[in-house]
Amino acid sequence: MSDPFAADGVWLKSALHTHTKRSDGELDPAAHVRHHEWMGFDVCVITDHWTLTDEPSTSRTLVVTGAELAVDPLGEGRFTEILAIGIDDIPADPGGDRTHWQRIDNYDFRTFPDLTAAGRHISGNGGVSVIAHPYWSGLPLEVLLAADGIEGIELFNSSAERENGRGDASYLWDMTLEAGKGFFGFATDDCHYPGFDIGDAWTMVRAAERTEPAFLEALRTGMTYASSGPTIRGVRLDGDAVEVECSAASSVVLMSRYETGWGVRADARNREEDAFILERDPAGLIVRAMVRTAGGIAVPTARGHGPRGPTGLDERALTLACPSRTHAGRVMAQMSGGPSRGFRGILPADLGFNETTRGVVTSRRGHG
Ligand SMILES: [Zn+2]
Repeated sequence: MSDPFAADGVWLKSALHTHTKRSDGELDPAAHVRHHEWMGFDVCVITDHWTLTDEPSTSRTLVVTGAELAVDPLGEGRFTEILAIGIDDIPADPGGDRTHWQRIDNYDFRTFPDLTAAGRHISGNGGVSVIAHPYWSGLPLEVLLAADGIEGIELFNSSAERENGRGDASYLWDMTLEAGKGFFGFATDDCHYPGFDIGDAWTMVRAAERTEPAFLEALRTGMTYASSGPTIRGVRLDGDAVEVECSAASSVVLMSRYETGWGVRADARNREEDAFILERDPAGLIVRAMVRTAGGIAVPTARGHGPRGPTGLDERALTLACPSRTHAGRVMAQMSGGPSRGFRGILPADLGFNETTRGVVTSRRGHG
């Protein structure tokens, strides 16, 4: 079982999907890394298209070489792409249909026949494979279910979200998990233009130490959570209760298989027969809340604690309860505060509840 919150090690704020001038990005690799350093990234994986970009790490930011590879498209304009993180070889002939191969910008676009073949090459090279922006690409569920030997999917890609509103693939993640496919979920910004599209989503990686082998091993074992806003400090099982500790939230939702799920909201639409806000702070954020599940159990929760977090918002702890592990689903919390965009952080799939369990924390960017 992977529990990044219980493991020893360091948290690494990681950019898993980025492009430099060596493919279709804006900056030369050194400037690209510098921008990631300025944005507080501990790890910058450079995933130029079909290109291995080696750039030295800095004292603060570990640079990992990867690539964004592709497989034969499902149809016209339906690109199926995959991140290869930590590889050192790109095959000259990956075995796909050559009619799709072409020179694009300054790289040679090629294809593997399918995701399983790509994954086999990547893991054979010591890398970690992540299916890129499946919603943006329009990947059918069957394609994901047929992909073997792949570590995870991008369940949120903020550049895809900006481009055509299809950055959030969490529905596909739900469906794969419910089918027993244990993909881990990662968030990326797919940065091409630092200053414009950097830092809108990232993956927090709990690595044994700040080295490339430890980082890759943590990705491989799901010692991560994904975020585009909130900080998640802990997720624990306490009997049948799921306790989530995260940054201040305006809503917390425990979602589960299909339509069942329960939530507490800070707004007027909280459904009080299921969920009760017991205490709010002056800003209206939930301090204590109670969720009554279908099993009729009410477990209360949450207390304010701790110093102000890195978001500038007060940190809170929230506890939700679920009477049956078979009903445990995902936990979603929403930060209040600012106007702006909704953000989401997603917890690891494997928390030991059941095969479909995952947690999600959604937020909006706060005042700070
Ligand atoms: Zn990309």
